[in-house]
Amino acid sequence: MARIAIVGAGQGGLHLAIGLLHGGHEVTVLSNRTGQQIADGTVTSSQSMYGMALALERELGIDFWEHGSPQYGAASMWIGDGEGSRMLRWEGAMDVPGQSIDQRVKMPRWMAHFEVLGGTLRYEDADIETLEALTLAHDLVVVASGKGAIGQLFARDPSRSPYTRPMRVLALTYVKPMLPREGGPAISININPGIGEFVTFPGLTLCGACDIFTIECVPGGPMDCWEDVRTPADHLAVSERLLRTYFPEEAKRIDGKLELTDEGGVLRGRVTPTVKHPVGRLPSGRVVLGLGDVLVLNDPITGQGSNNASKGAKIYLDAINAHAGAFDAEWMATVFERYWDYARWAVAYTNMTLGPPPEHMLRILKTAESDADLAHKMANSFNDPKSISPWYFDAAAANDFLAARACAAA
Ligand SMILES: Cc1cc2nc3c(=O)[nH]c(=O)nc-3n(C[C@H](O)[C@H](O)[C@H](O)COP(=O)(O)OP(=O)(O)OC[C@H]3O[C@@H](n4cnc5c(N)ncnc54)[C@H](O)[C@@H]3O)c2cc1C
Repeated sequence: MARIAIVGAGQGGLHLAIGLLHGGHEVTVLSNRTGQQIADGTVTSSQSMYGMALALERELGIDFWEHGSPQYGAASMWIGDGEGSRMLRWEGAMDVPGQSIDQRVKMPRWMAHFEVLGGTLRYEDADIETLEALTLAHDLVVVASGKGAIGQLFARDPSRSPYTRPMRVLALTYVKPMLPREGGPAISININPGIGEFVTFPGLTLCGACDIFTIECVPGGPMDCWEDVRTPADHLAVSERLLRTYFPEEAKRIDGKLELTDEGGVLRGRVTPTVKHPVGRLPSGRVVLGLGDVLVLNDPITGQGSNNASKGAKIYLDAINAHAGAFDAEWMATVFERYWDYARWAVAYTNMTLGPPPEHMLRILKTAESDADLAHKMANSFNDPKSISPWYFDAAAANDFLAARACAAA
């Protein structure tokens, strides 16, 4: 059994840590915040998660919210024509409902569970010196946190990172439940080309059920208007104005006025989608392995990051359990490639949604409007973007795919 240290008590770090305890390893997790500090802080994500990732949590006995939390069994997409009308709209059933548990609820619960299972939790803001010490005392050190100097240990991989700047300005908001959605709860994605997106679904937060939405604003566009926003009340007012102006269909769900779940229910920011090399080399020459956002950072537009962190944790877990030798740089690179074989689809899926939509992608989405089976496939692609390869990602494959469907339907 191995001695393993993990820096970062988030989706990826804690998932891996708990899995390793089940495998009999000795595990230490470093967190720069206590569970109480996380619960008392602001929201960090909209964390919509889907069947495959939720099944991995269930496998470890940590999907504590399967019963009693809002679930959504469908996905829908509306794309505007740039003049306020609809270009297309599809809706499809997801085979397994999605769910979103506020990380302020989830991580403190997982931290407590990790300790109950015998893991060691250390509250420390890890730096390079900390990593040096950890590598001396452990067989493997995993960095599951991308912020600050420890994130800089991992070099950007330009061959896998097409963007060099943020593609959206993000505004995340947790509100008290809005009017029920016609057709039932869903992850609903609304796209106004050149302006931005409104992505929403129900979730569970500190005070119970809520609705969560992320407004994704194209930098320099009319929704990029957050510079002067300072308070949660300002944030809510701007969100409501943008929602009513650019997404009037969704705004019909506002019952009187929007109300925040709590003062911590807002977040603004921007991310540069980035993929990094998996091995971080310390000044001593010793190595650490990255996991989750630190290596594969996506814009949240397609809701993939938490799911990826979980799937990555599972791949690392299986690789660690199956390994008998040293956890050296070569082993680390091999394990990451195993993960990348899946994650590259989530990255391509997300990056395609951020850029100008390729013609073949619009044709597929337009077909899904009247083709229920295709809408079903698209709805389940949030769970597994690889399931719509190659035809969603490649114009020639899309032509063949659509032609075969048209033939079958004739
Ligand atoms: C607005 C927004 C909406 C999103 N919506 C979705 C969605 O709908 N679906 C989805 O799948 N993903 C979504 N994501 C992405 C998702 O939240 C992340 O991909 C996921 O949380 C990454 O998990 P992680 O374990 O890699 O890192 P994190 O969740 O960032 O966890 C890292 C942890 O490490 C701690 N830490 C940081 N530095 C240190 C240090 N030096 N020492 C010790 N501890 C440290 C942090 O406090 C944190 O607890 C969204 C993100 C954003 C910003």
